[in-house]
Amino acid sequence: MAVTVLEASERILAHATPLDTEHVSLYDALGRVLAEDVRSPIEHPPWDNSSMDGYAVRADDVRDASEAKPITLRVIETVAAGQRPTAHVSPGVAIRIMTGAPVPTGADSVIRVEDTDGGESTVVIRDARDAMRNVRPRGEDLRVGDVAVPRGTVLGPAHIGVLASVGGASVLVHRRPVVAILVSGDELVDVDQFDAVRRGDRIVSSNSYTISANVRAAGGEPRYLGIAPDDPDRYRGLLEGARGADLLITSGGVSVGAFDFTKDVLRELGAELSLWRVRMRPGAPLGFGMLGTMPWLGLPGNPVSAMVTFELFARPLIRRQRGERAVFQRTIDVRAAEEITLAAPLMHFMRGVIEWPASPNELPSARLTGPQGSGLLTSMARANALLIVPPDRQIVRAGETLRALPLGESALSREHLEL
Ligand code: AMP
Ligand code: MG
Repeated sequence: MAVTVLEASERILAHATPLDTEHVSLYDALGRVLAEDVRSPIEHPPWDNSSMDGYAVRADDVRDASEAKPITLRVIETVAAGQRPTAHVSPGVAIRIMTGAPVPTGADSVIRVEDTDGGESTVVIRDARDAMRNVRPRGEDLRVGDVAVPRGTVLGPAHIGVLASVGGASVLVHRRPVVAILVSGDELVDVDQFDAVRRGDRIVSSNSYTISANVRAAGGEPRYLGIAPDDPDRYRGLLEGARGADLLITSGGVSVGAFDFTKDVLRELGAELSLWRVRMRPGAPLGFGMLGTMPWLGLPGNPVSAMVTFELFARPLIRRQRGERAVFQRTIDVRAAEEITLAAPLMHFMRGVIEWPASPNELPSARLTGPQGSGLLTSMARANALLIVPPDRQIVRAGETLRALPLGESALSREHLEL
């Protein structure tokens, strides 16, 4: 059956559910997805505190201070961050205070030290601009019971900092999916058998490496099962290793070749299978099904096809299993830098390089990496985006607008700071 990319994506994602949860230390929480709302058990900050090094005073005492008519107050105490004031600020006195220290009772302002003579027993104040300023109130950041970080958040450094501030030494997150990876083909070896490649007998199973790396990049844990020869019994044997995994990704053997039996073996094992020809190029015979509760995604064997279909179908599935909600990469508009002609009315995902323009009013420009054959893995290695040409566009002229799917974060990075 032939389906569109959107249909295939919807059907696959319909079977993706967030995995169960586990506690991890905050130190290991980066990139994990929070499985519960974390509320603050405290007021944060826990006390009214100074945002300046200076003098805690009453605004009424300093309102008329100026360079021409400075005001002198008596300093009765010095409070560092980590100490508590013991005295009260009454009219005519000041307490010397450091940033973060609790503001003493009676004070409503902190005069920055730069506007004073810095005195230790008396202080001369030469500016009134800080009257009623520089006090950060208790609970300004979080009140007791506030949701500090909501469930579903992909934890970044700021979230981890907030969780630490409210005492979350360990946090409840969704488990990372264990992704079993099985590739097949008599012509394939792992890279440690490179002698066979030098002899001209075999090729390296690059899919083993691209899929494992992609699984890791998507936040899953790869479990590599190895290379199955084109033999159903051996295939079945290696597939045993998928037991207990959260997702099975295979490459190859889902096409119509004489040795394409992946689907037969899976069906024997009781899987409900769908096999689609997805209306896209690089061409995708794509398999999907459920082995009990474990989804199976059968990627095509061609190295570029395996990578593009991983991007479109496997990455969102893994991200959903990790508990993420927004699982799809954002597409951006780009301007074609060259003419692109397409041979078939399919959704094309061309390997491209997008470059950012000098002016923010222009779209990024996009060119192809060169020949687009689905075996040319270097075209993928040179690309920083997939350029999307929908089936109804037979030709894209230079200067026309296209959508592009940036590959990874580096597509957006620059050599120079831009502000
Ligand atoms: P298949 O899907 O088995 O018909 O393979 C299609 C093409 O992809 C053939 O040229 C295979 O040699 C190649 N291929 C299949 N699996 C891999 C793999 N794991 N790594 C690199 N190339 C592969
Ligand atoms: Mg094959």
